[in-house]
Amino acid sequence: MIEDRLYGIRELYESSPLWMRKGAGLLFRRLPNRLRYGPVYARMRTLLRATREMRRDELDSIENRLLRDAVASAYANVPFYRDAMKSRGIEPRHVRSRSDLCLLPLLERGTLRDAADALRSEAHGAQRRLYVTTGGSTGDPVGFDLETGVCRSKEAAMLDHAWSIVGYKRSDRSAIVRGSVLGRDRVCDEDPIKGSLLLSSYHLTDAHVPMMVDRLKAYRPRYIQGYPSSVAILARHLLETNTSPPEGLRALLLSSETLRPDQRRLMAEAFRCRVYSWYGHAERVVYAAECEHGDGYHLFPEYGTMELIDEAGNVLPWEKGVTGEIVGTALWNRAMPLIRYRTNDIATVGTDGCPCGRPHPKLASVEGRIQEFLIASGGRPISTTALNMHSDVFDRVDQMQFRQHEEGCVELHVVPRHGFGERDELAIREQVGKKFGAGTELVLRRCAEIPPTRSGKRRLVVQDLPVPDILAGALPATAHGA
Ligand SMILES: [Zn+2]
Repeated sequence: MIEDRLYGIRELYESSPLWMRKGAGLLFRRLPNRLRYGPVYARMRTLLRATREMRRDELDSIENRLLRDAVASAYANVPFYRDAMKSRGIEPRHVRSRSDLCLLPLLERGTLRDAADALRSEAHGAQRRLYVTTGGSTGDPVGFDLETGVCRSKEAAMLDHAWSIVGYKRSDRSAIVRGSVLGRDRVCDEDPIKGSLLLSSYHLTDAHVPMMVDRLKAYRPRYIQGYPSSVAILARHLLETNTSPPEGLRALLLSSETLRPDQRRLMAEAFRCRVYSWYGHAERVVYAAECEHGDGYHLFPEYGTMELIDEAGNVLPWEKGVTGEIVGTALWNRAMPLIRYRTNDIATVGTDGCPCGRPHPKLASVEGRIQEFLIASGGRPISTTALNMHSDVFDRVDQMQFRQHEEGCVELHVVPRHGFGERDELAIREQVGKKFGAGTELVLRRCAEIPPTRSGKRRLVVQDLPVPDILAGALPATAHGA
């Protein structure tokens, strides 16, 4: 399919002049989706339309069928899984449903990095795999293979289906505010292939933001896609300069970072449209998205299987209020099947049933990456969603970032706004200090800017404590003492 072939020459495309890209884009956008994305796109759209009307047990049986196929294929073709199952005395017939997945080992990110060859299917030659890497926001990007003609088609179908909830069509004009959309030194540009305006999240500084907002208003996108931290900077500029949002804007489509309630309110006020978010990964193991009613995320089991585990790796019951680490199993990628892949992301199960009528299970929240928790003295985890960042004590703070190198000591770096003074510092100390409790030292530092990560995100938390230490505090301990 054409999308995958283009992926291989994207650098050439990105470096050609705009008139050339416009010509190619015009041709490309006239192609029907089936040609652009191949037959898997159509199959996935049909499946998603069907499951929309199903009962939960029907959806379960579809998930289990896909899961059985994925496990059988991994056993037949992937040395890592064949060995892992044989050494446990397991055969594909033993894995009938999601609840049997615990017979298989968890897959750590480090294993994906170190044992990539053993995770590759012997049945897939070079032309049937597409090598990609994660953005590397944590500084340790990991590479893996997607099955050509399948994974990116399925992804496009999933996005088109989920975003249709806010009226999105692929032919609509969009602005994209992310890190990887442009070369490091380019601030904004048009991408005729996608029909979008690209704004670099590396350049969201006072020097560039006014020009970026002007371009945005002139372009009049129907949708703005981006990282919450990036779009929030544009939102703040609109409010501060009393600027109206682009005309005809229908929704903000946000992902790749935890969307905090204070950011959601700020963006809704500035852009005066629906703020819509979803949860997914470059590894494409699970997908969850808001529906018309908001209030949590529907999980799409026909895309990937989700389990929640405790700190010892035991599967937690899927019951309202249960919090655990997300473990995902990709159901479509035969070239390098990721089974029980640990995401290091934390989520909480929501209520069963939604006014929208979808049978898809719901997450109440995705608390974000485990590295976004702060650890108070005594090992007590503090989720940044609990830090009440919309409080007025931050009114004269432009941006901020928590940094932690040792348990019980947290640095808060703030970029002050005009008028920020002693009194603001005291108020912040008191308010934030209260959340951490006695015994945790809070060091406040003023700075000129919060540098974006390599992938262009602005992290609220830079956590240097090792993941196992954070997990130990953030997740429920096993009931059996494992
Ligand atoms: Zn719903």
